[in-house]
Amino acid sequence: MKRLFILIVLLSFASAFAQDKHATLTVGTATAQRGQASSGVIHVPAGSDAGYDIPVTVVNGAKPGPVLALVSGAHGTEYASIIALEKLLPALSPAQISGSVIVVPLVNLASFEQKVPHVNPVDNKSMNRYYPGNPQGTQTDRALYQITKQVVEQADYLVDLHGGDIDENLRPYSYWAPTGKADQDRVSKEMALAFGLDTIIISTGRPTDPNASRYLETTASLRGKPSITAEAGRWARVDTDDVDALVNGCLNLMGYLKMLARPVHPVEHPVWIEKVLTVTSDVGGIFYPTVDRGSYVEKGGRIGYVTDYAGRTVFEARSPEAGEVLYICSVPTMTKGGTVANIGTIASREP
Ligand SMILES: [Zn+2]
Repeated sequence: MKRLFILIVLLSFASAFAQDKHATLTVGTATAQRGQASSGVIHVPAGSDAGYDIPVTVVNGAKPGPVLALVSGAHGTEYASIIALEKLLPALSPAQISGSVIVVPLVNLASFEQKVPHVNPVDNKSMNRYYPGNPQGTQTDRALYQITKQVVEQADYLVDLHGGDIDENLRPYSYWAPTGKADQDRVSKEMALAFGLDTIIISTGRPTDPNASRYLETTASLRGKPSITAEAGRWARVDTDDVDALVNGCLNLMGYLKMLARPVHPVEHPVWIEKVLTVTSDVGGIFYPTVDRGSYVEKGGRIGYVTDYAGRTVFEARSPEAGEVLYICSVPTMTKGGTVANIGTIASREP
């Protein structure tokens, strides 16, 4: 009887250890035991071009729970999203957290350092279009391969933060991209609502092949991890409202996932966007917007115009449908075929 008792005690100890598979969590060179935080780098080896190190912090909460990945800076001049994760880091106290948070605040270091929008200047590729990455490719491919292996595969949930780039006057919004798996889609929808941005784009038509997933959020979603993308910030600015929206969104999400003792107040009646239409310019020249981000425009309504360098109007940009201006070009530079604005058409009912 006594032996049986000892055996049961030993087995329950063993199962307690077995259940906590993240008693130690390692991402790149950062290793954190339960109740600790550790910062390091995810090394991207050199290949056909240079290698580099992506900064990462692992916050391993005192109590077990899910692993949440928070990533920003795929576009290194979408500054508000990068600053949001930098501000979030000191607010993540391991003692108060159940589960673990992997924070990657700046994927595209070369873009940030050289102030180059949209792409990684090393290979001219967008760092949110080449997932799941490729260890034999150029720097972007190799970096995204490391993010897939070390961050996505170790996470249970993921949030990818973006915002308006240097040339984009953007209103904050989230993307909810249903996968067709009802349980996962319910959770990701609840994540978008808990995050708290009041405009949510229903993103359909995403890739379905996990080996050609293109986007970070899709890479995680196709691996069964509920995920969202959230955007705030614009025009190279670091406005408090935008930064706070993203910081609080991440904390709200941790409340929803029961990783933090924090009340959840999901946004109640968000504007659901069912279609995003990109308006481009037929000609190059000087662009003048005539509407602001977040404006509602009618079908055919003028949203801006382009002049030549003699000041003559050579193009009028009009909205192809009635909808909301999600973002509009914020700089005078306009190229032939360049993006004038993204217009979101509003869904008639909640999905
Ligand atoms: Zn972006």
